[in-house]
Order: sequence, then structure tokens, then C-alpha cells
Amino acid sequence: MSNKTLSLDDRLYEYLLSVSLREPDILAQLRQETAKHPRAMMQIAPDQGQFMVLLLRLMNAKTVLEVGVFTGYSSLCMALALPPDGKIVACDISDEYTTIARRYWNLAGVAHKVDLRIAPALETLDQLLAAGQANTFDFAFIDADKDNYRHYYDRALQLVRPGGLIAIDNVLWGGQVTDAHAPDDSTQAIRAFNAALRDDDRVTLSLLPISDGLTLALKRE
Ligand code: CA
Repeated sequence: MSNKTLSLDDRLYEYLLSVSLREPDILAQLRQETAKHPRAMMQIAPDQGQFMVLLLRLMNAKTVLEVGVFTGYSSLCMALALPPDGKIVACDISDEYTTIARRYWNLAGVAHKVDLRIAPALETLDQLLAAGQANTFDFAFIDADKDNYRHYYDRALQLVRPGGLIAIDNVLWGGQVTDAHAPDDSTQAIRAFNAALRDDDRVTLSLLPISDGLTLALKRE
């Protein structure tokens, strides 16, 4: 026994899912369809989606910002959890991926909760700020190109309300973050981002080793 986080082998992870995952059929269908996609690993894990739903319910969240939609698994999880007047502003640059997402939002009857913006996310976030939407979002989920993480985070921190939460995905990056000499830009961007967040006293911080690493940053009141 140890007080360090367990590394999950397949058997233990399957067990975890078997006793905790409550995935609605529509999400399971989307996950099966996405599994055939060449970039399927860009989808969040189902237990992570369920955890994010718990966070939304804990906060009574109504307004969500999502940076990086892909085929829509995370946005569908969140849209299903939001109240009828809840809203997700969902940012992505891909018509192709989000066509799948939109089909499932429609099938699940939650399309009216999702405001999809097809544009570079920084442009959309800056438009929201220019439109006076600072301090209005309850929750933000950042899961897009890693080079821009610090820019997405800076905008998201302005856009969420005091007491609002930002969740940032892939912060352990398959374990590559331990390599200070990793040659790729994404690894270095995540390393720099993680190091900067450690010292960011505007937020209360926790890095969870769920899935590929999920940082939670709660904007201080
Ligand atoms: Ca991700």
C-alpha cells in the first residue's frame, strides 16, 4: 500500500468503470462512432466526462465555455447535465468533426444548449470579452491545441466568474511532460503551462491524474 496515486492497469480500470460508469446510451453510441475515427484518442474518457458532470452539478453550472469540441463527447456530457436554460459556447475550427457532434446533440435533444462557434478559439474568446462576457461563465473546459493553452487559459480566467472553474485536459500528456528535453512543441508548451499554473495565485489549483491528466483551477473570489 502507498499513499501515492495508483497507476491503473487495464484490469483495475475496467473494474473502476464497471462499478461507477453510468453512461447514457447516446454517449455510448457517440463513443463507439468516435472510436473508428483516426484521431479517436482526442476524445475524453467516459469516466472523465462523468466526473465533469459531477463538477457542473456541484456548482449548479448554467454557462459553460468549451475550447476544443472534436466529435462532441465532452460537450454532450455537459449539455445533458445542464439545466434546460443552460448554455455551452463551444469553440472548434473543424466543420468535419463538429458535424458528428451536431448530429449527436440533435439526437439527444440538447442542440439548443450548444452555441457552436467555428473559428480559431482565440478569436471567439476575444469576441466574448469584447461583448462584455467577462466574469459570466461558470465553467470552462480547455482541450485543444496545446501551444495555445496559456492563451486559452488567460482568456478563460477572464471569462469565468469569481468562483468559476477552469478544467484543462491532457496536462500529463501521456507522461511525456517529465522529459525536459522533449523535442516537440506541445510537450514544452504543456510543461511551461503547468509550471506557470503552480505559481498562479489567482486560482486554487489541483492536478488530477484522471485520464491524461486534468488540472482544475478555481478562480478566486
Ligand atoms: Ca484531450
